[in-house]
Amino acid sequence: MIIDLRSDTVTRPTPGMLDAIMSAKTGDDVYKEDPTVNALEQKMASLFGMDDALFFPTGSMANQAAIKLHTQPSQQLICDKWAHVYNYEGGGVSFNSGVSCKLVDGHRGMITAKQVVENINPPDFYHSPLTTLVCLENTTNKGGGACYELDEIIKIKKVCLDNDLGLHLDGARLMNAIVANNEDTKQYGSLFDTISVCLSKGLGAPMGTVLMGTSSLMKNAIRVRKVLGGGMRQVGFMAAAGLYAMEHQLQRLQEDHTKAKQIATLLQSLPYIKKVEPTQTNIVIFYMQDDFNQDDFINALAAQNIRISDMGQGKLRVVTHHDYTDSMHSKFLDILSSYLN
Ligand SMILES: *Cc1c(COP(=O)(O)O)cnc(C)c1O
Repeated sequence: MIIDLRSDTVTRPTPGMLDAIMSAKTGDDVYKEDPTVNALEQKMASLFGMDDALFFPTGSMANQAAIKLHTQPSQQLICDKWAHVYNYEGGGVSFNSGVSCKLVDGHRGMITAKQVVENINPPDFYHSPLTTLVCLENTTNKGGGACYELDEIIKIKKVCLDNDLGLHLDGARLMNAIVANNEDTKQYGSLFDTISVCLSKGLGAPMGTVLMGTSSLMKNAIRVRKVLGGGMRQVGFMAAAGLYAMEHQLQRLQEDHTKAKQIATLLQSLPYIKKVEPTQTNIVIFYMQDDFNQDDFINALAAQNIRISDMGQGKLRVVTHHDYTDSMHSKFLDILSSYLN
């Protein structure tokens, strides 16, 4: 038995999800004739109270398309220095959209309305790039699953409205935030112009991200997706997995959060651990005491078939997910407790 805690993208479809995949009605989605893709897009748009939705193969492609829809070459977007769109999408912001990123030194991947204001280039100062977009991330990936306060997002929205800026949410793990904080999907829909939500993270589908947005932006989304090489054909099988995940594997995200908190609480009590970041959702980031060797620890876990991530700079990461069972959880907690004993 391998206990893989490197990411929440290591899950396999459940029997119910496999049934949904096997029995999916499909068609050619490039003709918009795949009924299952259409159903998924409609379900997500109505869940968030947004005008339109479009199915993408990956979260990166959905974010890149959103940035393209909001901007023109030479312009600038504002995001946290840890943002996925800046760090983990291959430099796509400059390659696909010809846009630069103004990086904000935020807190655990989150920025404030005040910081947004401070980073808007004066629109009449023609020497600097025109600021046209703000990208937020919720939950934050590099920030260890941290969640925005809704009040801060409301303030950021006001800054965007006052300064004619678009507001995009990289919501790869938005459903984790919504379940953890008991929030309202429609409130998110009312605050953002575009939102991407991954089906392949905690929700447990094999692939897919849905981009939602206002009709004025989304009317061009299908063309941009085509340009990025993302026009998919009989892809209803994968949309069926996403629909199944939203219907049957959404509320159980809470179990991942509970397990992550239990891991964090235990780690905090262990002599070889220096610090554990506050754990709000399914990601635990922690650091070992300086006189303990991190590689020895990772190797000792690996010898017991447990995989965790080394994020560099002393950061270790554990991500809980659908396939991390109760028995794996108790085994992992036991092994952590007995390490060095
Ligand atoms: C995983 C992730 C994405 C999308 O990643 P893909 O691998 O392209 O699906 C985007 N943003 C964040 C914050 C993520 O964690």
